[in-house]
Amino acid sequence: MVGGRPLLGAGIFHSTGSGSGTGMTTAKTAALLIRDVALVDVVRGRVAGLRSVVIEGGVIRDVLDDALAWSGTSLDGSGRYLAPGLIDAHVHCFLSASGTPRLDYLAASDEELLAVGRHNLGVAIRAGITTVRDVGAPAALMTRLQGEVAAGQVVGPHLVSSGASLCRPRGHGHFFGGEVASPAELRARIEQQIAGGAQWVKLMASGGGLTPGTQPHRAELSVAMMRAAREVARANGVKVTAHCHATAAIERVVEAGLDMIEHASFLDSHGRTRVDIDVACRVRDSGIAVCPTVYGGFLTAQHFRQVGEAANPDDPTAIERLEARLTNVGPLHRLGVSIVGGTDCGATHTPFDTLVDEIGAFTMQGLSNAEALRTVTSDGAEQLGLSRRGRIAAGYEADLVLLAADPLADLEALRRPLAVLKAGEVVHEAGAEEST
Ligand SMILES: [Zn+2]
Repeated sequence: MVGGRPLLGAGIFHSTGSGSGTGMTTAKTAALLIRDVALVDVVRGRVAGLRSVVIEGGVIRDVLDDALAWSGTSLDGSGRYLAPGLIDAHVHCFLSASGTPRLDYLAASDEELLAVGRHNLGVAIRAGITTVRDVGAPAALMTRLQGEVAAGQVVGPHLVSSGASLCRPRGHGHFFGGEVASPAELRARIEQQIAGGAQWVKLMASGGGLTPGTQPHRAELSVAMMRAAREVARANGVKVTAHCHATAAIERVVEAGLDMIEHASFLDSHGRTRVDIDVACRVRDSGIAVCPTVYGGFLTAQHFRQVGEAANPDDPTAIERLEARLTNVGPLHRLGVSIVGGTDCGATHTPFDTLVDEIGAFTMQGLSNAEALRTVTSDGAEQLGLSRRGRIAAGYEADLVLLAADPLADLEALRRPLAVLKAGEVVHEAGAEEST
């Protein structure tokens, strides 16, 4: 409900179609016109003025300056803002976002994990997140969850997956099942995962905070392993990203020519955080994007401060490292490194609706509202290889959020969308009963 008016059915949705009913089914199958809405042009960083948007077959067919004679289903956008649906580039569907996500994961059955995944995706879509990229999951369960989303059995964002994150034996995140001991094993695993629906490759290039027995300031995969991953990924038309806390791991990613870096904590060999400007410039010059996952890091640091210890006893500088992810964003942005918005949701105390917090944190480091918004729309889509998402223009997928206020003026406007459309279908409206 919006101000007492339902968006679907007999409210501002008007249908003169076949009489087969209004609401989600009609919106999905029939053409839809969103009339007289203030269009948020994320690329130019301005509101384009009132437009009417024609959606058909899940795709934006046209964006018109003038009202259109229209006999089908329509949505009155007057007084409202239309922005692209958001993209969270770093999620873990099967983690619980509790204080102990790894222990929860290890204790859960497959069916319980699937329930966690369905719940998380529901939280995301209600927050206006229409695409997520999972960067660490049990591969077989991920294939099942992707199937449920694709079949419409689960209402959730488009689910881009990298299957199980790949690590050295007993390396970071090994509990997802992606341990590989040699380039040959790595290649075989990547091909198997792509066959199962993975569209990215995720490497664990350093230790991590969730995994005892690993050290975040140590690089954990050789350049030869990374190159093998890149070769087999390229041959299959997918990209490679790498979890890197250690600066030494970031340097190897540059040498191996990968596509993206997660976290980019810039830990030196003693575990201290210091952005190495020379390495950061090489990241930029190589066209490697960084997904810094600052807000989850901030929340996790807060949690560790409260309980007095980190999750990984081999990670003595965890709090410093987690808090530095935020302060790293300023220098990286000023150097011209491409920043992509992603939350690490599912990890410690980071639920699936924290993307607005993530980009709000970016603005504390000098990004404008428009620059921050692009990290989760047009720029994010481009870096993820999603060429038809993240903008409102003819030919783009109709993944949209209808908002009560202008997000370029205040990013908080994104937090509770009035309606969320995925592939042209209204999949959530504010005030509708929440389901899990
Ligand atoms: Zn992660």
